[in-house]
Amino acid sequence: TNNITMKNIIIFGPPGSGKGTQAELLVKNKGLSHISTGDIFRKNIKGSTKLGVLASSYIENGQLVPDNVTSDMLSNEIESISDSKGFIFDGYPRTINQAEFFESLLLKKNMKLSMVLSLDVNEEILLKRLLNRGLTSGRDDDRNENIILNRIRVYNNQTSVLKKYYIDKLGDNFHSINGEHDIQSIFKSIDHIINNS
Ligand code: ADP
Repeated sequence: TNNITMKNIIIFGPPGSGKGTQAELLVKNKGLSHISTGDIFRKNIKGSTKLGVLASSYIENGQLVPDNVTSDMLSNEIESISDSKGFIFDGYPRTINQAEFFESLLLKKNMKLSMVLSLDVNEEILLKRLLNRGLTSGRDDDRNENIILNRIRVYNNQTSVLKKYYIDKLGDNFHSINGEHDIQSIFKSIDHIINNS
């Protein structure tokens, strides 16, 4: 891994904003490694690991898994991927505490955060998208309106402050993107931002 030329990107936004979808497109088009904390939790829940059992008690209520558990897991995940052209972090960090842990982790690994891509979508659309996703995703946390509303509330209370945190840290390398457009035109904007950075 050449840490200097690596592109390390946080894709940020509320639940249902399209982070995972755009991250997958970045993997396909740019060869970046996708780290989705939600996907890792779900894999562990399926496999009934100790981590999965612990995480499911939070996830099924639309709450955050505790910071120390999540940050440990993230750190192990980065460790397990070698020779990456860069990472796309999807669903992490989600709290100020996680962001601070993340900063010291990257420093230790001699890695630099290249940019934050922040997807903006209004709450009414989020709710619609998630309920719709719940019809096919097999995710219990997408099937129940109260759980979805709780996830949006948690985002507003604990995660959305990270916008200001990263604007202060990154300046022009923080990018707000309208996430209400269609998938391909959002990806076009993202591709443009990355190619011009
Ligand atoms: P979405 O962003 O669409 O809600 P994710 O797959 O990113 O879905 O996350 C699903 C759930 O996993 C979250 O509601 C939360 O309970 C848990 N989770 C994911 N990432 C984190 C994180 N960084 N910190 C704490 N909990 C997390």
